[in-house]
Amino acid sequence: MTERTLIIIKPDGIQRHLAGRIISRLERKGLKLIAAKLMQIPAELARRHYAAHKDQPFFAPAVKFMSSAPSFLMIWEADGSVDMARKMIGSTFGYEAQPGTIRGDFGCSQRYNLIHGSDSPESVTSCRMLRGSTAKELVRKSKTLPTFLLKIPAKTLGTERQHSAEWPVKL
Ligand code: ATP
Ligand code: MG
Repeated sequence: MTERTLIIIKPDGIQRHLAGRIISRLERKGLKLIAAKLMQIPAELARRHYAAHKDQPFFAPAVKFMSSAPSFLMIWEADGSVDMARKMIGSTFGYEAQPGTIRGDFGCSQRYNLIHGSDSPESVTSCRMLRGSTAKELVRKSKTLPTFLLKIPAKTLGTERQHSAEWPVKL
């Protein structure tokens, strides 16, 4: 069944200029990018996002890290995208993650592990990142972008004049 997953390139992934390579892997695999937004996650939102870990010693530093600098939030779509993306991301700590996975190939840190992926379809629908005012723009784009994608192929088959009439496209 077509499923959406939230992928976040964390602050370390942005600062290490790895966003393009990470996105490229997801595209190459065949997942479809539905929406994206660069934003600094407010601390309160990061706290809610990691609420399941609130009693763990790593909770406070993880929240601080996630809200320290901009992250890149994306929604990707494919049948089974949640599990597929988690497999591509690899296990939590970079030094343990399998080579061939994103964490396994690009890092060896415990906390600074580059990327987050939803861990279940339920966690996507209940995700705090996809609620509230900070996420409205992302969700709105999720609804409008497929229309844009469907229109383009028909137009690109026509003349150049028809094609250019479609541009610039306002997302
Ligand atoms: P994420 O939820 O960020 O996708 P995950 O599901 O692989 O990662 P979780 O167990 O949910 O791992 O931990 C959330 C985040 O907290 C981790 O991504 C990592 O940044 C940090 N973290 C988890 N365990 C530790 C630890 N023992 N020491 C330091 N940081 C940790
Ligand atoms: Mg997790």
